[in-house]
Amino acid sequence: MQKFITEQNFNTLIDRLIGAGKRVVAPKLNAGTVLYEPLSGSGEMVLDQLPRRSGKEAFFPLCEDIVSYEKEGQKVKLTDIDPALFPETLLVAVRPCDTAAIPVLDAVFSWDYKDQFFLERRNKTTIIGLACTSSDDACFCTAVGISPDDRRGSDLFMTQLEGGGYLCETHSEKGEALLTAHAELFTEPNSQKAKPLAKPEVEKVDLQKVKAWLDNNFEDPAWDSIATRCVGCGACAFVCPACHCFDIVDEGTEKSGKRRKNWDACGFWKFTHHASGHNPRDGQPKRYRNRIMHKFKYYDDKFGQTLCTGCGRCIRLCPVGIDIAEIVGDISRKN
Ligand code: SF4
Ligand code: SF4
Repeated sequence: MQKFITEQNFNTLIDRLIGAGKRVVAPKLNAGTVLYEPLSGSGEMVLDQLPRRSGKEAFFPLCEDIVSYEKEGQKVKLTDIDPALFPETLLVAVRPCDTAAIPVLDAVFSWDYKDQFFLERRNKTTIIGLACTSSDDACFCTAVGISPDDRRGSDLFMTQLEGGGYLCETHSEKGEALLTAHAELFTEPNSQKAKPLAKPEVEKVDLQKVKAWLDNNFEDPAWDSIATRCVGCGACAFVCPACHCFDIVDEGTEKSGKRRKNWDACGFWKFTHHASGHNPRDGQPKRYRNRIMHKFKYYDDKFGQTLCTGCGRCIRLCPVGIDIAEIVGDISRKN
């Protein structure tokens, strides 16, 4: 289904949903940084910047409780978190490099083990994607097969039009339900042209060549030169829309506390630290190699696609200037 909505009516839609108690998450300014965060009104939306972190936090929180415990005498009382209580959420103005990562996450969390925490939040989230009309030097979505108007992962997709307003296309039942429930705010599409997309000026990477090199060069000396300078801060994983590793830890005292699921990063030295003290990835190059292998080989071996959407966030934020686009481009030219 295709419809048109004016900017004013779009704001009315957002305010109406917030007023009805829905959790609406969108790019919003927080202490000088744009992040996807819950809104208290449509006026808080920032629609012309890529948020610093990805939108996955709306349904895959950085930290979440999964059970709490309390010792009463000799007994331990466990209290489960009920995923059914997670709120219905509308995630708005999500850029294609973020939405394209959502099916990637869905596949991981519903593969051999169905993660109810992720899946319940995900089922309750409706995604409104927004086409990009600006890009910067770090963006490289087109190099890895994504486009600035990629519809993957969006329930409803919006494209800004030259004369104002948005063309809205539904891509799922959730998108159709949203549009139908507020039909009076939408009109039939008009003949206005879409604003030009921001296509990053980058060379397309041959991902098959990258994978072929990775298949055969686990021990290549290039890994040392690529990643000796990595400081293991984990920023690249924490801002990435597709990274999904987490750790489960107990936080509290012997009397009471919580079991929590916290994001993790393969750049951290403790990520593969065994209880014996042995660490099979005992240096930063081995940890960074895992990052590239996971994104461009292991995930592809398992699910038939790559684990990078070219959002460029890890390039913008790496404190030592490690550039994944450059690394993958160099690998693709090796054979
Ligand atoms: S690896 Fe870097 S560029 Fe690729 S999706 Fe993750 S943060 Fe974005
Ligand atoms: S952001 Fe840069 S320094 Fe930090 S872990 Fe990632 S590659 Fe290493």
